[in-house]
Amino acid sequence: MSPVDLFAWSDGDLVKAKVTQCALARICGACGQSLGRPVAFVGTAAEVGRNAFHAPPLHTTCADDVRRALDDSWEVVQTGGFEFVRPGRDDEDRRPTFQPNSLL
Ligand SMILES: [Zn+2]
Repeated sequence: MSPVDLFAWSDGDLVKAKVTQCALARICGACGQSLGRPVAFVGTAAEVGRNAFHAPPLHTTCADDVRRALDDSWEVVQTGGFEFVRPGRDDEDRRPTFQPNSLL
């Protein structure tokens, strides 16, 4: 899978509207199909440490495709569920995050 095929990315950058669509419709950020369980998230070590990811939920198999296509230094976590958290008024980071709530 090349970066241009990834549902929620355009030229390697996340597309905000697609990210929101993945969150609300529970679809995979890579292939655009419905998610089951577990759900995978990819991110930097810092994102893993904060348990807050900017990239949308993925199928576990798609998570490997995303890492290969975009950044193979990203880590993968698996979870049974997640919260979609929109930034607060005072948050410096204006992007919504995904916060896994039952890590596997
Ligand atoms: Zn997928």
